[in-house]
Amino acid sequence: MRTIVVTANWKMHKTIGEARAFLETFLPAVQDIRSVEIAIAPPFTALGAVHKALKDSNVRLAAQNMHCEPQGAYTGEISPVMLRDLGCHYVILGHSERHQHFYEDDDLINRKLVAAFEHGLAPILCAGETLAERRAGRTDVVLERQLTAALEGITREDVQTIVIAYEPVWAIGTGETASLEDAEAGARFLRSLIAGLHDEETAASVRVQYGGSVKPENARELMALPNVDGALVGGASLNPETFAGIVKAAAEVTVRHELRADR
Ligand code: PEP
Repeated sequence: MRTIVVTANWKMHKTIGEARAFLETFLPAVQDIRSVEIAIAPPFTALGAVHKALKDSNVRLAAQNMHCEPQGAYTGEISPVMLRDLGCHYVILGHSERHQHFYEDDDLINRKLVAAFEHGLAPILCAGETLAERRAGRTDVVLERQLTAALEGITREDVQTIVIAYEPVWAIGTGETASLEDAEAGARFLRSLIAGLHDEETAASVRVQYGGSVKPENARELMALPNVDGALVGGASLNPETFAGIVKAAAEVTVRHELRADR
C-alpha cells in the first residue's frame, strides 16, 4: 500500500515569524498522525527556522525549487547541496509557476531532477496541462511530454522514490478543483506512463498527488481515488487549521484503505 503524502507549498508567503507561528498551531494538531507523510515547503528564507521547529516532529522539510549545479556563479540561486545542508528531504520541481513566470523548460527540469537524486533529495515532480491544452484535447500529449522529458536518464530505482504531482494548471490557485473523474484520469495516465517507461511494479510504487485548489472540504474524496496518493496544497496550506484539516482527511482515507485491505 502506498503511504499518502500531503505537501504544503507556501510559495512566496510567510516570514520566519509567521512560519514559526503557523507551526505552533499546526504541529500539535497533527502530532499523533503517523499513517500520513506530511511535508512543508516554506520559502528559502524560512527553511532554517522551519527545520529547527520540525525537529523530532512527524513533518518533513521540502524546498520549492533549486538550481541544478552544486555551486557556482549563479547569482540569486540555491543549490541542492545547500538544501541538503538545511535539512530538506523533498524538493518541488517543475511547478507550473516556474514554467509560467521563470521560463523553465522540460530539459531544465530534467537536469534539476538528476541533480536532486545526485545530492540525496527526493523530488516532487509537477506535471499538468493548461486550460487551452485541455480544451484542445491535448492533456495526455502534454503530460506525456513533460513526464518523459523530466525522467530521461533517471534509473528505475530512483523513479520508484519519486512523488509526482498531477496539477492541472487551470485548477491552481483558482478555487476551481478538477472533477474526481479528471483528477483520477490524470493520475492514472501519469502512472501508466511510468509503466511504459519502466514496468508495472515501478508504476505501482510511485506516489501521485493531486494539486489544484485542494481544501478540507474536497480533500477526502480526492485522496480516496484509486490512483491519487495525496495532495500538493497551495492556498489552503497557509492556515494551520485548514492544512491540519487536509492532513486529517488523509488519515481518514488511510484508515478506510486499511479496513478494506483487512477484509
Ligand atoms: C500549488 O501551488 O501547487 C497549488 C496546488 O496551489 P493551490 O492549492 O492554491 O491551487
